[in-house]
Amino acid sequence: MDAQALISQAFTEFTPPKRQLPSQWAVENFELPETSAEPGRWHSDRAPYQAGILDAACEAGVQKITLMCSAQIGKTIILLIIICYLIDLDPCSMLMTQPTTDMAEIFSKEKLSSAITHVKPVTAKIAQRSRDANSTILMKMFAGGFLRLAGANSPSSLASMSIRAYFGDEIDKYPRSAGKEGDPVKLAIQRTETFWNWLVFLVSTPSIKENSRIEEEFEVSDQRRYFVPCPHCGHKQHLIWSRFQYADKDTKNANPLSGVYYICESCNSPIEEKYKSQMLRQGQWVATAVAVDPKHIGFHINRFYSPWKGWVDLCLDYETSRDDPQKLQVFWNATLGLPFERVAGEKLDWQLYRDRGSGSGYQRGFVPNGGLILTAGVDVQADRLEVVIVAWGEGEQAYVIDYHKILGDPLSTQAWEQLAHVTGKVYQRVDGAELRIRATCVDSGYLTQEVYHNVRKYRYLHWFAIKGQSGDKPLVSRPSPQEINYKGDKIKRGINLYKVGVDLAKETLYSRSKIETPGAKYINFPNNLDTDWYEGFCGEVQVTKHRNGQPYMVWEKLAGVRNEPLDTFVYALAAAHLAGVTRMNWGKIESELEEQLMSEATSDKATSQINKTPNNFKPNGHLTGRSKAKTPCPLVRSRKGNVRRRRN
Ligand SMILES: [Zn+2]
Repeated sequence: MDAQALISQAFTEFTPPKRQLPSQWAVENFELPETSAEPGRWHSDRAPYQAGILDAACEAGVQKITLMCSAQIGKTIILLIIICYLIDLDPCSMLMTQPTTDMAEIFSKEKLSSAITHVKPVTAKIAQRSRDANSTILMKMFAGGFLRLAGANSPSSLASMSIRAYFGDEIDKYPRSAGKEGDPVKLAIQRTETFWNWLVFLVSTPSIKENSRIEEEFEVSDQRRYFVPCPHCGHKQHLIWSRFQYADKDTKNANPLSGVYYICESCNSPIEEKYKSQMLRQGQWVATAVAVDPKHIGFHINRFYSPWKGWVDLCLDYETSRDDPQKLQVFWNATLGLPFERVAGEKLDWQLYRDRGSGSGYQRGFVPNGGLILTAGVDVQADRLEVVIVAWGEGEQAYVIDYHKILGDPLSTQAWEQLAHVTGKVYQRVDGAELRIRATCVDSGYLTQEVYHNVRKYRYLHWFAIKGQSGDKPLVSRPSPQEINYKGDKIKRGINLYKVGVDLAKETLYSRSKIETPGAKYINFPNNLDTDWYEGFCGEVQVTKHRNGQPYMVWEKLAGVRNEPLDTFVYALAAAHLAGVTRMNWGKIESELEEQLMSEATSDKATSQINKTPNNFKPNGHLTGRSKAKTPCPLVRSRKGNVRRRRN
């Protein structure tokens, strides 16, 4: 043996065994269950970007890892692999949090237990201990450590224990404060402070821009992005939404089904999705910023990299969500993996909508044929009630039907009786079908007890008491029972109070107003509403304000405008949600109205025929039934604009 060989041998013998990287360990040990997208042994070929994130856990000098990502890029697998890797090779005290305790239990039962069962070295380690009853759903014991699972909503479970590794999953869904204890993520991270070799792993799809924990964390990290080479020119770049294009982009109704390409930022050539897997294999993580703390690295990846969903499908998702702020936020968060930016709205031009109304071809008080259900919204003022009646049709297309100012003191019964008349009467559709209002929301922000009292009195007309709440709130929240009257006495049959997220509702109505072609979500106006109404409907604007340095959006009223038309529309939208507008079987309602028309027409014909030929009458099933008019109907204009008289 020569000197060189001796040195080499000595070197092999005396070098401590190099610790295996998590991705290598996973290739040898990590089995995915049958129910996963890629069952069997984990490998990095399909989603090669996963390996770089996994191995970061062992990167020299790295102690904090932030992963801001879209849905379905395999983040749960990444978390499970690192946890199992540590249990097997570097056991220690660990904590994982989910947004709530319930979700922590679900994670344990559905994800973690499956990993424990399928990954042999881990099965062996945890099984030894499970018999001694120390392991429970939220606490897994193993030689050399434990894994505690907790809900970020439960401050007690975050305090009082020392941990070396902390995993915070879906941190953007955590409450800002866990009870009175403060920020749950900070609380958990504090628990790692006694260890010199602590590790923190934060993962989430982001939420709202400037109010997203994961974004805050990513911003101060080294911001790694997955760079892939262009198959045409080799230029390495990370995939961004604005460079995706449809093949028929120059046509009026461009559609992803025509084909979706990525436009290379260097050579501008269209890149087809067939190159995706090759590009992913040749990709690499590149830091695009300098971290504030060099121990902190961050990753961002979006769903366009995912091997499990195609570009065309993702762009179709975008097309179905682009006009709806709630859905658009989901696309932004869950597909692009980016925080959603609410843009301060520009002022709506009321004249535009008045013009839309004057060309619409239906008059105030009548329901055009597309309208299938009716709802109403009521605003209470010191000397009057204001009410809007709105019809809703397929795809939540809306038709403003009528608007009334009912003058009178809401402390007396008269105004409410008139409201009961307006909301209880039959509304006639242009084809003669008859509709009744399914839900009426009455704002209880002013004269609260009076509203409660009357809602209870007229509940048979499907009146609901609501209260507007601003901020990031759902359109309609679960109701709370109100059972005390204004004398402070308990009432037997109290009412439910529904909270309405007015900011979201306004955003929804304004973004729907911008849709220009009739169809889903479009808003129609009748041709003789007052100018005041249009000014009021367009009477607010969304502006950005700051509190403690944090930006937030608020709606502000334009000077000199009465905004009741907008408020009442918001309440009618809430009423539509209470009536189930999002899960309505429109086809069924349409055929019920058809049946109603037919039976009425049949009974009319029967009456006239019975007088002539009482013995051989048979109902005619083929009557069009479109002719029954109970009130004289004005001229109607078809959508093309030509005036015709209703058939009679
Ligand atoms: Zn290129």
